[in-house]
Amino acid sequence: MPRPIQATIHTAALRHNLAQVARCAPDAKVWAVVKANAYGHGIERVFEGLRAADGFALLDLAEAQRVRVLGWRGPILLLEGVFEARDLELCSRLGLWHTVHCDEQIDMLAAHKTNLAHRVFLKMNTGMNRLGFKPHRFRAAWTRLHALPQVEEISLMTHFSDADGPAGVAHQVAVFAEASRDLPGERSLSNSAATLRHMGPAGEAKGQALESDWIRPGIATYGSAPDYPQHDALVWGLQPAMSLSARVIAVQDLLAGDTVGYGSGFVAPQAMRIGVVACGYADGYPRVCPTGTPVLVGGVPGRTVGRVSMDMLTVDLGPLPGAGVGTEVTLWGRAPGGVTLSIDAIAHAAGTVGYELMCALAQRVPVQVD
Ligand SMILES: *Cc1c(COP(=O)(O)O)cnc(C)c1O
Repeated sequence: MPRPIQATIHTAALRHNLAQVARCAPDAKVWAVVKANAYGHGIERVFEGLRAADGFALLDLAEAQRVRVLGWRGPILLLEGVFEARDLELCSRLGLWHTVHCDEQIDMLAAHKTNLAHRVFLKMNTGMNRLGFKPHRFRAAWTRLHALPQVEEISLMTHFSDADGPAGVAHQVAVFAEASRDLPGERSLSNSAATLRHMGPAGEAKGQALESDWIRPGIATYGSAPDYPQHDALVWGLQPAMSLSARVIAVQDLLAGDTVGYGSGFVAPQAMRIGVVACGYADGYPRVCPTGTPVLVGGVPGRTVGRVSMDMLTVDLGPLPGAGVGTEVTLWGRAPGGVTLSIDAIAHAAGTVGYELMCALAQRVPVQVD
């Protein structure tokens, strides 16, 4: 029998979350962002749940190819554009739309021989300072692209640095609007946080006019709140798209003063039963999660005790006295009874974000789709 650990991708949750985010921007088209192998979920595994999107956005050409192999004929956007000239051949062949964020990419396009003119997303750096043309250079880049026979249509995009926090997006929106004034073309501005927090009901409450012809949600479609702990997934009406569960493979009865695991990091304050669970950091569960990190033991809220090791972690069985070898422990996501434990709570305990945990699900964990 394989190790009793299992990840599950929930198709219905993906479908629900996509619709939930789209509701905040009813007039916008939606890029489902599936970079990094769909945030660790697996592009092939999320495809069915996200196929109601208007397009798929990602970075890696091999991933774009996988989306085409799945039969997707609609738009695919390369969020970082091409990395070298010959990537444009694949763009022509697969009909990929691509971001243009620097002069070198315009040079490559100008030298590209194609019968099929490309749809490009010209990116403005409105303050994030990763990719994009500075506002004062944006118009010149647009003019240069517009003159190329290789370019069919130019859309305009930018990316927010603080959509999830107190600084917000207003400053970047103003810079973008000013530097793109009178330029034709569709606009794409909002990631998950911007869509949930600054469009729809939340945006209206702020009197904010954040308009986007294409929104680009990623994390929210996977059921994680982009601004946890200020808001959790329940507040945003999101459901976990990934569950990770494993079974208890051993039980230890501790006496007061007994310790658990490497470093004897946990000392039992009184007699207690603990369960040893077949999940460790080699499965993608963060080693830094301290004693007290939430778990669901047989669907009942509980906590970890002691240090996470490579293949195992330990949980307090106190909340479920009937638990024993074989009891299912949910590390994040949905427990069989329907109770959920947000991946954001585990990420928070590890000092990181839900994104990183999803992406770090280890290769050795078997994944099923429901
Ligand atoms: C990853 C990414 C997104 C999606 O961001 P989320 O925070 O996951 O919604 C949107 N736009 C760009 C350019 C990205 O790189």
